[in-house]
Parts: sequence; structure tokens; C-alpha cells
Amino acid sequence: MEDARISTTTRGLLSQSPGIVLYAVTLAGQLLGSAARALITAVVLDIVGLLTGWSIPINPIALAVAFAPLAVSLLAVICPPLVAPFDGRWWEMSTGGRPPEQDEREAFEHAFSELQDVDPTLRPPRHWFVAEEPTHNAAAYASSLCVNRGLLESSYAAAVIGHEMGHLRSSDAHITSALNLLLIRPMDTPEIRPLWTLPFRGLLWLASGQAVLWLTANTWEMYWRSREFAADEYAARLGQAHNLAQSLTHESLPHERAIRNMRFSRATHPYTKPRIARLQAHRTPPGEHQ
Ligand SMILES: [Zn+2]
Repeated sequence: MEDARISTTTRGLLSQSPGIVLYAVTLAGQLLGSAARALITAVVLDIVGLLTGWSIPINPIALAVAFAPLAVSLLAVICPPLVAPFDGRWWEMSTGGRPPEQDEREAFEHAFSELQDVDPTLRPPRHWFVAEEPTHNAAAYASSLCVNRGLLESSYAAAVIGHEMGHLRSSDAHITSALNLLLIRPMDTPEIRPLWTLPFRGLLWLASGQAVLWLTANTWEMYWRSREFAADEYAARLGQAHNLAQSLTHESLPHERAIRNMRFSRATHPYTKPRIARLQAHRTPPGEHQ
């Protein structure tokens, strides 16, 4: 029994290692963004110094602007408790989330107790909030969980929350937060024309952190699609294979459309049908939950 648990943990870590490697590559790439930020900051402060006659400590300020986002992002991966609670609250505020009302709290607790019947060691996230959406969805980010109002009114709450717990109990939600912290400001990919302003717009794109995230986006989405299957498996091990398959059949499948070059695309989720098939074929290995 113990062996089965160990092998599951090892398998879990192995399946997340591409994410850690990809994060390291992305972080290294963002050194270009740091260089761009240092250059822009130094030039701006130099001009301000010349115009005002102030003596500005340009180098330390430029270095802080250049590397602070990378340091905070790295901290979100290696020591999540220092960053995740703040980033999660910011997520709630910036997306218009709200604290749950009493009936929603009870619905959440009821759904969670269904998961705890299978795994009594499972603890709910310290921070969860409600998104004012009628759909049956949820999301995990940093160490926080966002649950749509509609999900708490549905019969799929335990299944979908079980899936999101898969993202929260692995490195997925923390890496998502760390990547987001590398982005100073979302920017559209610069148009080629007018050509003479392209170097400046390109430099800003690089400095914003968006350029490197754009370059790595396809690889990241390939990884995230594999993590959807892992989170599904986690929910299945919590006894939610059937309910999650039902939820996907009724909520996602009707909206499914073909995606060009799916395997290498920027689709955030895999096709729904293979997810349903895997959930339907799920058998809990001996020694695990159930
Ligand atoms: Zn997911």
C-alpha cells in the first residue's frame, strides 16, 4: 500500500518537472526583459536628472526595476507562503470576486466534505472566493480558489472543486502565479509598421515581460494541457470520475470546436472528449483513496 503511494508521488513529481524546467527557461529569458527595463529606467532618470539638476541614484533604482519582478516571481515558486496569500487576494480584487455568502459557504463545505469522505487529510484552501458568474466553473491560482456562483448552485461542485484541488496540491497554481508576476503589463504583440518606431515599441514589449511570455506561450500551453489530465486524475482519485465526466459532457462538450494544429496550439485546455474517456476508464489503483 505504501509502495503505491510512493510511486504515485514520484509519478506526480516527474509529471511536473517539465513545468519547473520550462519556468527556469522562461525566467532566464526574462533577463532580456530586465535588461530592457534597466535601460529604459536609466535613460528616463538620466533625462530627469539633466532637466532638474537632481542627483538621482540611477544604478540602484534601475537594478531594482530590472530584477524585482524576477525575484518576486522566483519567491512565488520556492517559498509560496511569502507571496501566494497577497497574490491570491490581488487576484480576487482584480477579477471582481467577492467573499461567499452563508448559503454558498454551506454549499462549498458540503461539496468539500464529499471529497474528504474519500481523503480525510484533504484541507480546503485558506482563501477561496466567489466569481459572480452563472456558469459551473472554478479556477486555481497561487494558493487561492475561485468558484463561480453557478457551480455552487449545481450538482457538479464536488467534481470541479476536486479537479481544482489537483492544481492547488501540485505546483500548477504556484507556477501560474509566478508566470503572471513576470508580466509587468499586458501588451499586444507590436505591429511591424511604422517601422521607425518598431525598436522603441519592441523594447517596451520586452520590458513589459510580455515578449518572452509570448515566445514561450505555445510550449507552456502544451504543458498546461497535460496538467488538465493530471488534475482530472486527482479528482478521479477523490471519487469524482463519474461526476466530472458528467460535468464535462454537459458543460464543455457542447461548446467544443476544432482547433488548428491542436497539439502545438495555444489552446489552454485539451479536447474534452479524451478527458471524458480517461475519466470513464479510471480505475483507482489499490492502496490509494477509495
Ligand atoms: Zn484545470
